Amino acid sequence: ITRAHLDQIAAVDGAVHSFLHIESDRALEAARRVDAKRAAGETLGPLAGVPLALKDVFTMTGAPTTAGSKMLEGWVSPYNATVTQRLLDADIVILGKTNLDEFAMGSSTENSAYGPTRNPWDLDRTPGGSGGGSAAALAAFEAPLAIGSDTGGSIRQPGSFTGTVGIKPTYGGTSRYGQIALASSLDQPGPCTRSVLDAALLHQVIGGHDPLDATSIDAPVPDIVGAARSGDIRGMRVGVVKELGGEGYAPGVEQRFRETVALLESLGAEIVEVSCPHFDYAMAAYYLILPAEASSNLARFDAMRYGLRVGDDGARSTEEVMAMTRGAGFGEEVKRRIIIGTYALSAGYYDAYYGSAQKIRTLIARDFRAAFEQADVLVSPSTPTTAFRIGERIDDPLAMYMNDLCTTPSNLAGNASASFPVGLSPDDNMPVGFHVMAPAMADDRLYRVGAALE
Ligand code: GLN
Repeated sequence: ITRAHLDQIAAVDGAVHSFLHIESDRALEAARRVDAKRAAGETLGPLAGVPLALKDVFTMTGAPTTAGSKMLEGWVSPYNATVTQRLLDADIVILGKTNLDEFAMGSSTENSAYGPTRNPWDLDRTPGGSGGGSAAALAAFEAPLAIGSDTGGSIRQPGSFTGTVGIKPTYGGTSRYGQIALASSLDQPGPCTRSVLDAALLHQVIGGHDPLDATSIDAPVPDIVGAARSGDIRGMRVGVVKELGGEGYAPGVEQRFRETVALLESLGAEIVEVSCPHFDYAMAAYYLILPAEASSNLARFDAMRYGLRVGDDGARSTEEVMAMTRGAGFGEEVKRRIIIGTYALSAGYYDAYYGSAQKIRTLIARDFRAAFEQADVLVSPSTPTTAFRIGERIDDPLAMYMNDLCTTPSNLAGNASASFPVGLSPDDNMPVGFHVMAPAMADDRLYRVGAALE
């Protein structure tokens, strides 16, 4: 199985560019170890021997971790991320590291310092981002399982664009230890797969308490595998969020959304309309909170500790070397966000920008709480449009940010959410995603709905 996937990578990755780094030898060795264990009659986990593509923000010893940036080129981590370690402990075979927008900032992988990934459904289009590499690897059958990280939609939006399943677990439900931080209060690792049950099995492997992550929740993961096997949604109250739809949404996306809601109703769900008035401000709050946290997290790339160092000729000051390295090592979008973030956090502006954004964040969490009294899950399209063309939005940051309209509220509130494939848009024959949001620690509800739709 591993060799077949490595062959598929060799055949298609020149065109798709899902991978930044391929670990053929280690993957084959891991696969052989699984065969030996099986031959010796040892008990193996349900995903033992199944190959996986790992987003290149998770550290893995002996392999590069670049986060899609020149800043980390050549850097090799001395330790495994908890996610990586749990995959290895489960005898999952890691094929390599997948492409992403630099430091996971973006919605198309065009911000990767190593060139964009292409959408296997149409090579002129993006697979979404930031985790476009992981999603494209699934859609191109280069891997049956992948791992992503979702800060504002980077698992769900690429899932939507490639017709695959993307799950953002409850904040604290999967460990961020060893994940290169973008915005620590929003980041969450999660499974990317082609089927709902695969996602649940993978989620079970990586999920659960980790003492190495101070924000990890010390409680058992709900029965997600049972929910994914059942798919029984009779009596479930499904809330359609009034604010997420209408103007700005592609007709084909809206059509598939309405059909999917009708399907859920025919399967026994009760459909209600809910209003979350502060969702209208989610993008504004997200694009202040994220840059604020990112500017702080990225301060560690100072030319002294990791990767790149430019201008260190013995004659320059530390500050000059730092400035030259950061100037050369970070791409345009990363610099834009560092500037926005440091501005928003600076004395005199803090209350007006960061402080206001945090208040909106609280109001969004309250909207969710009120809505979850009327409904067990909330639903919306995953993204306002299907996959756009490479180059179409790259010079227009606001158009790029519009991808995240439906996905950012869940990160701001910390609850669980997912994108499930629901067919192709009649507009352009590209995949459409259906977005499901559940309360924190009720991730099982996502899987129940996903399984019902499959
Ligand atoms: N597209 C969003 C952004 O650019 C999401 C990023 C993410 O989830 N890592 O910030």
